[in-house]
Amino acid sequence: MNDEPTINVTQSSMPELEAYIEEIKGLWDSKIITNMGTKHKALQLHLMDFFDGSLVRLFTNGHLALESIIEAMDLRGEVITTPFTFASTTHAIVRRGLKPVFCDINYENYTMDVDKIEGLITEHTSAIIPVHVYGHICNVAEIQRLAQKYSLKVIYDAAHAFGVKVDGKSISSYGDASMYSFHATKVFNTIEGGAVVTVDSDLCTKMDLIKNFGICDHEKVDYWGTNGKMNEFQAAMGLCNLRRIDTEIEKRGKVVKRYRDHLEKLKGIKMVKEADNVCSNHAYLPVLFEDYKYTRDEVYEKLKAHNIFARKYFYPLTSDFDCYKSRFDSQLTPVARHVANRILTLPLYPELELCNVDRICEIIMK
Ligand SMILES: *Cc1c(COP(=O)(O)O)cnc(C)c1O
Repeated sequence: MNDEPTINVTQSSMPELEAYIEEIKGLWDSKIITNMGTKHKALQLHLMDFFDGSLVRLFTNGHLALESIIEAMDLRGEVITTPFTFASTTHAIVRRGLKPVFCDINYENYTMDVDKIEGLITEHTSAIIPVHVYGHICNVAEIQRLAQKYSLKVIYDAAHAFGVKVDGKSISSYGDASMYSFHATKVFNTIEGGAVVTVDSDLCTKMDLIKNFGICDHEKVDYWGTNGKMNEFQAAMGLCNLRRIDTEIEKRGKVVKRYRDHLEKLKGIKMVKEADNVCSNHAYLPVLFEDYKYTRDEVYEKLKAHNIFARKYFYPLTSDFDCYKSRFDSQLTPVARHVANRILTLPLYPELELCNVDRICEIIMK
């Protein structure tokens, strides 16, 4: 071991303690700390504004939000999705009794390869669940065209995409619904939490039942719902963090620029370029070690020896998880496999000091 300071891949973004205390003080008067109280209502309203007037429904976490959309849409059969994602996306499909059909990703920004979707559509397909992975946006226009042609629902896993805009519009304006995660490690957090953003009010009515045991009123229960309610302390954290989101994303941008200055020009390293019409949230810093002098795993170990903990997001592919691998063949998604074997996500958070970015890059280069 050595005594160098530990740097993790991320660090939760937190408001000043005083600001949070101020925000939760009223809860000691009302003694109402969950069940869609004042903080919950306030956060929902502010987020509707943030999402250009779309409807917002808050949840305990992003995963339950995603499962709830699938449940509310009453999807059946097969869902076309990506294996290059966090476990949650695939698990949500499987846990709702559906069959994931894995589509390969494109090499440009690692989102679903839209040229390979059509060949996977069968009479059993009911939806497409793409992921705006790392906050990189999917080819939303082409996905919309295919969905219309085959009457499929589109649910975006936008867990990484809080604040991302295309042509000045929130990315949540595409698809039938988008799921956001407000987990502690995400760009915007409510400690744990998540949301559905949609313009479909019927879908919201159904999700309101799902997230509160199907309860309509004290004596009337209409549906076998679950418990997905965001509590008041989570919502209060969200209210504080929402006030800081612009400066936090700005700080992330500075860290990303510093990394790019060092690494972008190196031979054998690939970093994704954002399109000009996209306003990024700088959620992650994925670096592809392709023909670099060190392999991804060597860089990972080198950093670790200096107490710097990068992460191999997203390795393994979800289709290669022990619980799935007997049912799927990741040879069928060769680009996803190629990227998963070579990608490393470097430390990135608003408070990461630029001198530490320099140090990380030096270790990678030396
Ligand atoms: C974080 C994440 C989720 C799940 O969100 P939770 O809030 O942790 O439940 C889903 N999909 C992706 C891609 C994620 O990164």
